[in-house]
Amino acid sequence: MKWSARIGRFAGIDLHIHATFPLLFVYVGFVYWAQTGSIEGVLFGLALIAVLFLCVILHEYGHALTARRYGIGTRHITLLPIGGVALLEKMPKEPRQEIVVALMGPAVNVAIAAAVFLLLVVTGRPGALVELDLLQATFLQSVLFANILLAVFNMIPAFPMDGGRVLRAVLSLRTDRVRATRIAATVGQTLAIGFGILGLFANPFLILIAVFIWIGAGAEASAAEVEERLHRQPVRRAMITDFQVLSPHDPLSRAIDLTLAGTQKDFPVVDGFGTVVGVLPQTGILKGLRDLGAEGRVGDIMEPAATADLSDTLSHLLDNLQQGETRVICILRGGRLVGLVDVENINEFLRIQAALRER
Ligand SMILES: [Zn+2]
Repeated sequence: MKWSARIGRFAGIDLHIHATFPLLFVYVGFVYWAQTGSIEGVLFGLALIAVLFLCVILHEYGHALTARRYGIGTRHITLLPIGGVALLEKMPKEPRQEIVVALMGPAVNVAIAAAVFLLLVVTGRPGALVELDLLQATFLQSVLFANILLAVFNMIPAFPMDGGRVLRAVLSLRTDRVRATRIAATVGQTLAIGFGILGLFANPFLILIAVFIWIGAGAEASAAEVEERLHRQPVRRAMITDFQVLSPHDPLSRAIDLTLAGTQKDFPVVDGFGTVVGVLPQTGILKGLRDLGAEGRVGDIMEPAATADLSDTLSHLLDNLQQGETRVICILRGGRLVGLVDVENINEFLRIQAALRER
């Protein structure tokens, strides 16, 4: 995610923090200062938000570790002011699994709330929970209240909240996934408008939440649509078949000639037997020119090639391209190079499909 930095790694999953997250601390500090007018009050608020931060992290690990049980890894967990996001490598396609993964986050908060409640009962201070005023509450009461709030808030049926995923998964038990996503996204964006309006009159923080929901719902809907459009499409439908190749023995000057003569930016490197032995992207050519000059050999600076079979589907390729490790994938048939696929070409394919549908 953009604007985020890695702060650690736990249970094999990187933990990131979004640049806007500290805003929450500023906001909470300000609220407690306004209410209590004392440094102690501010410190109480900041300690509370730090503990909540921890609860949010545990919530995300609830998702990530449940997904792991279904064989799905998590790329990283990012903390945002409105909560956390566990970026799973993929979403479980089986709706029942998606429901369990989505529910296990809020379930963690329910468990924490139950544990804190027990602790309060044991220590004889459940307090007047019904008439709880957050700013009058003790620390533990606040943690309890906040975890209940976290569980409820996350079950709002709007992307990117867990409730949105549960709604989509429940809907997709009855209809196809794209349609389910579209309905869930519409519900989410309607709620976002509601939060936005409410935020104007009540709490400005709700406007921020509304923006996140709006963006999250839109992104989820378009991602599901793209995936569906590419799902059963064979690679050959968006494959570049008119391209140039380099030999490992070629000098870089040949790569320059080919780059300037056409629009191709990434070149497969093929040996004398027609086998793909590497790929030379434009960044590699430029670096090679700086290090070795135009006489440098392609074979000395080429990078490992990503390959796929002609029988693969475009959605499978898009997953690999989006992970950002490679810009272009060499398509093979019986071990021989027959084409290239890159992100731009897949996007062109999608635009053409959209135009044909609109007709
Ligand atoms: Zn969650």
